[in-house]
Amino acid sequence: MRIKSLAGLHKRPSGEIPLAELPTEILMSTFAKAKAFTINELVRTIHERSYEWYGFTLARREEPEVIVDIGLPVNDQNQEQYVSLAPEKIAAYRDSLPETMIINGWIHSHGDLACQHFSGTDDANQATVLDYVTALLRLPVAKVEIVIKDLALLHHEACGEEDLRRGSVSLVTDVPVTQAALWETEYGGFCYAIVIGDAGWHEQEIHYKKRGILSGRTMVSQKTASIRFLDDGRRLTSSELAALEEEVKTRLSPVPYIPPRLEGL
Ligand SMILES: [Zn+2]
Repeated sequence: MRIKSLAGLHKRPSGEIPLAELPTEILMSTFAKAKAFTINELVRTIHERSYEWYGFTLARREEPEVIVDIGLPVNDQNQEQYVSLAPEKIAAYRDSLPETMIINGWIHSHGDLACQHFSGTDDANQATVLDYVTALLRLPVAKVEIVIKDLALLHHEACGEEDLRRGSVSLVTDVPVTQAALWETEYGGFCYAIVIGDAGWHEQEIHYKKRGILSGRTMVSQKTASIRFLDDGRRLTSSELAALEEEVKTRLSPVPYIPPRLEGL
């Protein structure tokens, strides 16, 4: 017996039940902020020039929305106007972190450049970080109804191959049904992006990625976000400052900008 397809039957509007909120503003400890600007100062004093650098914003696993520290990975090349990062670099840095800490975004500096905004290069880097970070931070954010056009409802005792050929999706049940709605869990994650400059300015965004577990429907979005600094009472100690100096010395590789060679010259 083939039960009438849902196509043509009365359709309810698709529904959505929120399960969890993703952050809409960035929370950052005053310690992490001070550390980021200290790196800028160290770059200028140690490398005698202002260069772009990038690092990761770090959070405690149990509080992924609060940036509590900045991690400085090995930067491949630091030019005055360009910095790039690759997924394997992020993975390598992640592996070096203690189990209690996670990466929740990235931060980079434009040094003393006039550009006080995210650039086109930043967007490319952002996509790389977003994929990596959201995969680690994903949580169920909503239950969403899947609207299926031409859903075929079939009874298991009477559903032959011919019946299964029909419809875009077949739902086989043990009792005859005439109406069904499918709801899927939507998983979502976020990734912070912050850009800063020597003069003390900062601009920041939150990027989101959501994916339906059944439909595979993926949505990527972003917003310019405000940032709230939380005084955690932590200050950079002299030994931490010495360690940071060493990191700036050994992990950043400033290279002079070499203009591309032009044909015929
Ligand atoms: Zn940039």
